[in-house]
Amino acid sequence: MRFDLITIFPRFFDTPLEYGVVPRARTAGLLQIEAHDLRAFTHDLHRTTDDRPFGGGEGMVMKLGPIYECLLALTGEPTRGQRQKSGLSQRLRVCLMSAQGPVFQQRDARRLGSYERVILICGRYEGVDERVVDYLVDEELSIGDFILSGGELPACVVMDSVARLLPGVLGHELSAENESFSAYSGTDNTGILDCPHYTRPVDFQGWTVPEVLRGGNHAEIGRWRRKQALRKTLRHRPDLLHDLKLAKTDQKLLRELEAEAEEGSSAVTSERPSEGA
Ligand code: SAH
Repeated sequence: MRFDLITIFPRFFDTPLEYGVVPRARTAGLLQIEAHDLRAFTHDLHRTTDDRPFGGGEGMVMKLGPIYECLLALTGEPTRGQRQKSGLSQRLRVCLMSAQGPVFQQRDARRLGSYERVILICGRYEGVDERVVDYLVDEELSIGDFILSGGELPACVVMDSVARLLPGVLGHELSAENESFSAYSGTDNTGILDCPHYTRPVDFQGWTVPEVLRGGNHAEIGRWRRKQALRKTLRHRPDLLHDLKLAKTDQKLLRELEAEAEEGSSAVTSERPSEGA
């Protein structure tokens, strides 16, 4: 798979992609990443990529022309319409990083990973000329309800989440299957949060690892983990549960959690051990 980045700061991507699984994937030939300097697609002395907004107001807007020319150089087919007509859109996805897009989810990471090539356009200033959205890109991607000063960090976020799902990228020691937001039991729906993890020592200043994890009963461990995952989801992200058609086993665990909450025993809200415990 290949990512192309369109940016006025191509060197921005040097360091964040040097650590962990992404460079491993690149060395193994599973992933190519190239950053393209948008200024190379300008024709004026000052290599201008932005201009004042029509209608007035604060800030600058990124120009349409250089982005069009960069897409032309990279793909031969800069417009969405051309790519749909030629069939290129089945292999290539052009995305604009934008706070106005739908929020990027784990299922989008899986979806983008199915393309041979993904182009990410990084905005700056007030954003890009809206005709980029209207005519050039396939979709806008937001990484959350907050504003960053540029699309470069969001592009890194998207690349990292896509790259680690590519077959062969995560080692055997890691698996993308039981993580937070992984697909819910064979559906394309976003699943629940991950369960808590512990490692040695068993006892750190009296803070102990739950008993069940130390025994070798894998059925019991699996059930405990699932219940803890549901507990966390209920506490922090109940919205994830609303959208799911829960499996029978999960429904049962949820009822247990609700009953416990009612009894006030190990209530959903007071799951964390107190310091002295
Ligand atoms: N005026 C815009 C914000 C522009 S921020 C607005 O209010 O929506 C400048 C650039 O940073 C954007 O063009 C986009 O590429 C990037 N950016 C900022 N926040 C982002 C987010 N949450 N997700 C993705 N990209 C973002």
